Amino acid sequence: MSSLSPKVAREYCQVCPSLCHTSCPISELTGELRHTPWGKMNLARGLLEKQLPWTLENLEAIYQCYACGQCSDACAHSISLAEGLEEVRVQANELDLAPSGLKEIKKNFKQSNHPYRIEDLAPLPETWRLEKQERIFWPSCHTRRYFPHRLTIYQKLFAKLKIKGLGLWQGPLPCCGAPLKHLGLKEDFEELSEVLYHSLLSYRSIVVEDSACLQTFQTSYLKWGKGLKYKLVHLSEFLDSYLEHHPYRSREDKLQEAVLIKPIALKERPLEKLYEKITGQNLPVLLSKQGFLPTWGIEASYHRLFPKLAQKLSQKALKNLPPMESGTLLTADSLVQGQIESFSSPWKVRDFYEWMEEILY
Ligand code: SF4
Ligand code: SF4
Repeated sequence: MSSLSPKVAREYCQVCPSLCHTSCPISELTGELRHTPWGKMNLARGLLEKQLPWTLENLEAIYQCYACGQCSDACAHSISLAEGLEEVRVQANELDLAPSGLKEIKKNFKQSNHPYRIEDLAPLPETWRLEKQERIFWPSCHTRRYFPHRLTIYQKLFAKLKIKGLGLWQGPLPCCGAPLKHLGLKEDFEELSEVLYHSLLSYRSIVVEDSACLQTFQTSYLKWGKGLKYKLVHLSEFLDSYLEHHPYRSREDKLQEAVLIKPIALKERPLEKLYEKITGQNLPVLLSKQGFLPTWGIEASYHRLFPKLAQKLSQKALKNLPPMESGTLLTADSLVQGQIESFSSPWKVRDFYEWMEEILY
């Protein structure tokens, strides 16, 4: 992470030959200079310094970043685009110029502490013991909204692996606040994250289902302290530690013509190792940068903010899939699953953990 202030970072970008030019999955898909990290930072600087007008067209480009960090990796100064663009998004809210869909998200957060309407979130499964435990499982609100059956799959998986004493998070804040953070709703994010940080501190460990939630806890909650740092673990890493001596139903159950799709934020996680342990085989892996839009930051709300652009990008991304007529796209992340399922594709989408649960004794 860069130690430069967002203002100085934008000045560095101004004189940079755009070393990060090809790192951004969004500009790679749109092919537009204003969507490159360099383009977005210069647009942000122009808007904040009042050299450019605050038109919807200029503002739209400022929201085409999911804070995936690919450009920071390519940058000699590790500049964080998300921070460099945040000030514009905050001001856009103050000036009432933010995309119209954002108002609904903000209203929902006020009423229900997550980006959806209260009635949109499925109740937690009654069969999951909800009494206070030292360890808790944190599902994303996106999962609870669009793929609530995943909670039942996790329950079955934990039972097969004889995992005990893992409570389900049931606090009044079911969202880590990533949409607030990335949409520039700064004060709302700070309020939510402070309360949630202190609520989570009382647990010994927190198993996090979604890579976007994990990254938000690991980075954006740091301002409240380092207390969560060693308590957080991604679901795939957590399961890995239980797989060592577990019997599998049949190694012949490996998937045919399957590709594992991972969100960029999950690149270091052991999903493919889990597959290898279970089947004894390697699985082709496609990072979302190569084939799909990144599933990160504002992505969960992206189709609500920019429906036409989201559709255009999805169609383009579909063309980047491996040249197969059909097969299985395996994904561990409900954001990725939602995105793939919005395509009209001959590929069958399968949830990684569902497949895993079926193949384990
Ligand atoms: S983020 Fe780094 S590499 Fe990219 S334009 Fe700015 S200074 Fe250059
Ligand atoms: S953080 Fe990711 S999405 Fe945002 S500009 Fe950089 S590469 Fe693009």
